Amino acid sequence: LLDDDLPSTSSPPSIESTNDIPSARQIVSIGSASDAYAFTFHEEELNAILAKIPVGWKVCVVSVVGAFRTGKSFLLSWFLRYLETQCVNRRSSAEGDGRKWYERVQTLNQHEGSFDWRGGTERNTTGMWMWSDPYFLPRNEGEEVAVLLVDTQGMFDHDTTVGLTAAIFGLSTLLSSYQIYNVDKRIQEDNLQQLALFSEYGRMALEAEAKAAGVDKDVQVSKQDAPSTKADTLTAPFQKIEFLVRDWQNFDTEDETDIASMEAEMAAYLGHVLAERAASDLKETRDQIHSCFEEVSCFMMTHPGFAVVKNKYEGDVNKIERLFLSLLDRYCQRVFDTTGSDSSPPRLQPKTVRGRELSAVELGTYIKSYAQMFEQ
Ligand code: GDP
Ligand code: MG
Repeated sequence: LLDDDLPSTSSPPSIESTNDIPSARQIVSIGSASDAYAFTFHEEELNAILAKIPVGWKVCVVSVVGAFRTGKSFLLSWFLRYLETQCVNRRSSAEGDGRKWYERVQTLNQHEGSFDWRGGTERNTTGMWMWSDPYFLPRNEGEEVAVLLVDTQGMFDHDTTVGLTAAIFGLSTLLSSYQIYNVDKRIQEDNLQQLALFSEYGRMALEAEAKAAGVDKDVQVSKQDAPSTKADTLTAPFQKIEFLVRDWQNFDTEDETDIASMEAEMAAYLGHVLAERAASDLKETRDQIHSCFEEVSCFMMTHPGFAVVKNKYEGDVNKIERLFLSLLDRYCQRVFDTTGSDSSPPRLQPKTVRGRELSAVELGTYIKSYAQMFEQ
């Protein structure tokens, strides 16, 4: 009798409908019943997201790493609000009322429709999260690209081992085309050392995989750029790392509307931080970063205002400092620049491996193979 009943009752109730609500999905979790430090990759979550990208479209991946409680998820939630207004698949109808996109937000939700910000004290939130829906942005004539957002949680906290932090940082580096390294107040020497170490770890994983597979079987290199180990070691394996300094206090520019002058200061600051050093360990750190990334850049945000850091704060946009919002606006334009201009190439590029842009299916295979390496 039970067997007879099975066909009509076999579909699970309402799981599908809850899965339809846009939210951050956990693609990597840390800890299991038997091992507090287990690294688990959730392939089905990743596949469900990638399946929403049309066949053959290229994929840009923006990932944010950095210490806990430095405003990473808060920033990513702003990215979502920005993309909702820019994106060709869900452009908002409220455009043209003269207000900036961020002025229309009013309240930045803490949970619903956002990357949970201010959560993060619970151990089980540690790991990597990807937004459930890709956003589609215009590229060159008629072409579009998919954009995926990735959040990381629990790095450099007191419970996460260096090994797990390295695994999360390494996987984030491997899967992103635009990695944001969120740092508090300034770029410190240990931020640089961690970046050098963990990206080197990612590079070694990449090389080990390529060696094991001969020419990588999943991500084929085209005939023109045939595998030459020499070329491979000369070109950086990863695309872009950007330091995002939070609570920067030292802009010389006094005019709060002069964002361009502030950006010049940001570039000068990075130049100063990365400048040649005589001491060999300092030099090595810098060389390593340059050899791992095609591009290193820097942006700075000022403090969002004291209301924002209070425990009671629930996302009221009116309580955020104007300058923070102006810089946020500029930053969103920079990060999601998929078209470039006459004088500059697009800042956000599709994920490439050995110079070739990946489709969603290829990206899935690629992420899976590295995530499994970190699982061992
Ligand atoms: P995460 O752990 O890095 O993801 O940090 P969250 O995004 O969850 O934010 C942690 C806390 O920092 C929240 O209370 C935010 O309101 C606050 N916050 C967000 N952005 C900033 C910022 O730029 N500076 C400061 N000081 N706090 C921020
Ligand atoms: Mg967070």
